[in-house]
Amino acid sequence: MYFDYAATTPVLPEVIEVINATLSNNFGNASSSHYQGRKASSRLEKSRETIAAILEVDANEIVFTSCATESNNMALIGTALSNQHNGKHIITTSVEHHSVLHPVKYLEEKFGFEITYLPVDENGMFSLEMLKSAIRSDTILVSIMMVNNEIGNIYPIAEIGKILHKNNIIFHTDAVQAVGKMAVLPQELNVDLLSATAHKFGGPKGVGFLYIKSKTSIDSFLHGGDQELKRRAGTENLPYIAGMSTALAISNSSYLAEHRRYKKFKERILKKLAEANIDFYINGASLAVPYVLNLGFLNIKQDLLMMKLDLKQIAVSTGSACTAGAIEPSHVLAAMYGNSSKKLSENIRISFGKETSSDEVDALIAELIKIMK
Ligand code: PLP
Repeated sequence: MYFDYAATTPVLPEVIEVINATLSNNFGNASSSHYQGRKASSRLEKSRETIAAILEVDANEIVFTSCATESNNMALIGTALSNQHNGKHIITTSVEHHSVLHPVKYLEEKFGFEITYLPVDENGMFSLEMLKSAIRSDTILVSIMMVNNEIGNIYPIAEIGKILHKNNIIFHTDAVQAVGKMAVLPQELNVDLLSATAHKFGGPKGVGFLYIKSKTSIDSFLHGGDQELKRRAGTENLPYIAGMSTALAISNSSYLAEHRRYKKFKERILKKLAEANIDFYINGASLAVPYVLNLGFLNIKQDLLMMKLDLKQIAVSTGSACTAGAIEPSHVLAAMYGNSSKKLSENIRISFGKETSSDEVDALIAELIKIMK
């Protein structure tokens, strides 16, 4: 039983079909000018248009990448280097994914940028006032995620975007945990750059995209051929890109109904655990997505809990997947509770997806209660 959809999702059957068909029937290099190249190029542009239509942006504003880590790196390093003549100050939050935190650290260490990390409260939230007072005359870039991958908090991206645009500051959002799961419209969100990855919404791993609002000044990361309007060199991974556009079209058309199911799952888990007198608390704010539930359990270590669930073939997570292999405390919970809080070692993240059934949720509840008792 899989409850780790925030780490990755199974590939949808329709997506596998599209990938297989593209691998078999559309092997051309999209940059070749002969008929096979033109066929590949037309499929590539069709995929771009599908994604752009869903995001309500121009197709030329979508650049295909290999994953959201690449999209985030390109967005941050690319805009920072290209705009450094206007200032070298960047603002982000202390609860971003490492694929944002590590590139800004790199910019600080190698290029002398100054980084302000907005602190968060016990619910993982920060105030707009805090952001406003962090803005300086040399602030060129702000990166704030749309949905937190560990606690599910939703951050007020559209409002932040309004503030930043008044100040002529470039705004990037890591929308990995939102794309395909809620309305994500870059123009309404007032963002200049937005990152996404296919494997969080039913597509394959190893493909993603970066929305770059037209006229945003950004340096390329990969240099070589003229692909992606010279913004990202390298032959595009057409089968996976076609698969990603299919996955997005499917998940985008069904998320509202899915949310209703996830909300019920969440409520059921909380109700049943409370009825069984289990000592637990929720990590995160009330403004959170219905598909992520991060729980803290008093008096049990998360590794032991996860292992006991794993023995029953129940997959949950502790913190973000990228650091889960090496068990280190979550930097998100550390930002919320402080480095020495006991709460850093007693949490698990349960996340739902299309394939999650209510029977599975009941089995998870029963096993959690059994372990806790
Ligand atoms: N950003 C967030 C919020 C994520 O949850 C993840 C993956 O866990 C990433 C970025 C990185 O995505 P990818 O695996 O495509 O590099």
